[in-house]
Amino acid sequence: MESLEQIPLLHDHHNHLAFYTAMHKSIDLSKVKDYKKALCLMQKLGKGINIVTGWHFYSYIKEDIEKLPPVLICDTTLHSFIMNSKGKEKLENRFPEIVENIENPEWVENNLPEILKLIPCINKITRNDIKEFFNKLEDDFIYSIDDMLTPSVDFIKTVEEAGFSERCNFWMDIKTYKNTPEKLRNKVIGIKLFLDGAVGTETAAITGYKSGSKGIKVSTKENLKNNLSYIESQNKAAAVHAIGDKAIDDIISVLEDNNFSISLIRLEHATYITKSQAVKCKKMGIKLCMQPNFSIDAKLFDGKVKKECLKRNNSFRMLIDEVGYIPGEDLLFGSDGMPHGAEAALENALFPIYQNQKLKLTEFVKGYCTDAEINKKISFKIINNKITNIKKIII
Ligand SMILES: [Zn+2]
Repeated sequence: MESLEQIPLLHDHHNHLAFYTAMHKSIDLSKVKDYKKALCLMQKLGKGINIVTGWHFYSYIKEDIEKLPPVLICDTTLHSFIMNSKGKEKLENRFPEIVENIENPEWVENNLPEILKLIPCINKITRNDIKEFFNKLEDDFIYSIDDMLTPSVDFIKTVEEAGFSERCNFWMDIKTYKNTPEKLRNKVIGIKLFLDGAVGTETAAITGYKSGSKGIKVSTKENLKNNLSYIESQNKAAAVHAIGDKAIDDIISVLEDNNFSISLIRLEHATYITKSQAVKCKKMGIKLCMQPNFSIDAKLFDGKVKKECLKRNNSFRMLIDEVGYIPGEDLLFGSDGMPHGAEAALENALFPIYQNQKLKLTEFVKGYCTDAEINKKISFKIINNKITNIKKIII
């Protein structure tokens, strides 16, 4: 079976522009499968503070890391970090709290925006970096994005000066937003809140870890209620990071108990949403912003998460066929940059592990593609359930 397809470039509804632009200047280990090789590569780093991304070795030897040049290592989930003593020395004056708590998973989850905003502070971002990064995104078939963790208004200005602000919606975490001068807040479309962590680090609040872990909830219901009231008062949209069913329960219960008039509430990820939760969310007009590329987690986390829970990962058929979610209307797609781009997203959407994760190409296009009028498209072939020959074409 062979077919030739053409679809518009993507609008990635969940990305991290500042963070990944800064990361672009760092070493990426995501393709390095061998622990010793990863160490070898880091051994060659410079004497200043080095940022390393894509670390996916869940166990490591502390002494190995201590022998390296000053380093801050971010694992692939972006919810877990390692910093050696030399790295800490470099950063402790500017960021004492982060340095002190970087190995405390509970603190990390509760202060994630602060850590993610630290990276663009270290690797300062210029107009040219933004330009280069958007070019790279376009090479990965992404035309425009929602930046879910904009670090400052200065950063927005850099994006504007680089000429790319039309291709980016800016969202801020609540602390950054409150620190933004009132007259500049119109540049921000919404505020991002966090309810739980990630599955890789066993901090997402799912029921189903084999270890018995309960995950970490980073917000009480009271706190969530107050933050939503604030968002309502500011007339902004709300994007709520909730991967696990237990975190999703909290947002549903807070919204049921309070009658907020917030123009847009999005659940970010909602990876393990149950059918009864989805029915309630749909009824309350909550949009879901999900990542087809995370469907692979159903295989990746086989050792960590019980099968009955993994089977719930990205249940797109349940959401669309049984609950009535409509791609492009209240079901939106993005990548979270893990990885960026169309290829992994298409592969996972069209040919997933479980049939319940499957998206039709028309659904993918509605939920994930830009409607901007541009003269470029993504062209690819499907041969034997594989995406091949994917390329950007001018039309
Ligand atoms: Zn994210």
